Amino acid sequence: MQPNSQSDAIERLRAVERNISVAIPSSGDENQQVTLVAVSKTFAAEDIQPILKAGHRVFGENRVQEAAGKWPLLRNQYENIQLHLIGPLQTNKTAAAVEMFDCIETLDRPKLAKSISAELQKTNKVISLFIQVNTGNEPQKAGISVEGLPAFLDFCQGELSLNISGLMCIPPRMEPPEKHFKLLAALANAHDLENLSMGMSADYQQAVKCGATHVRVGSAIFGAR
Ligand SMILES: *Cc1c(COP(=O)(O)O)cnc(C)c1O
Repeated sequence: MQPNSQSDAIERLRAVERNISVAIPSSGDENQQVTLVAVSKTFAAEDIQPILKAGHRVFGENRVQEAAGKWPLLRNQYENIQLHLIGPLQTNKTAAAVEMFDCIETLDRPKLAKSISAELQKTNKVISLFIQVNTGNEPQKAGISVEGLPAFLDFCQGELSLNISGLMCIPPRMEPPEKHFKLLAALANAHDLENLSMGMSADYQQAVKCGATHVRVGSAIFGAR
């Protein structure tokens, strides 16, 4: 990123924040709190710096290894950083993910739940966990199926005593996202889960209107990848 595009990034961050506040009243919940997860994947530490300097603290990365290459240093420079894992997690990276992230949004299968649970017990760490739901039933996409969610949730909360904060989805690319946002909101409501991570650069305002508590916005802040 060039120096002048750094101030552009801050302006874009502020614009996204404004758009979120504008969308909140349409959700029907005036107390709705929306956390902006600034998705910094593929961007270097020097591109993230200005956003940190501007006071933003919540970021999303989709790969454990990439995050390990830039965030330990940034954490030394800035306090209270909250890092969310928003990409698929392999169980052989669970330990690294639990060490690095404050929130894992992509819990989607029993084997991973067991692995995270074991790691949390071993380290005594507390992180928040979202279950990713494959609301479009896309075979290539990660996430537990809508039908599989109740049993998986039972397993996580009952058998493993995991504290599940909410649900996350990535709607199919070619479909209007609202249907998926509403489905995810209905599922969270049915299972008494507080948080909803949904909405990206193209559709975060719609997601907020449907009740999102977390939006994951990358290119609208950092620019095209
Ligand atoms: C990359 C990514 C985003 C951000 O996408 P933008 O369109 O750049 O806002 C959000 N969520 C997930 C899971 C992603 O992988």
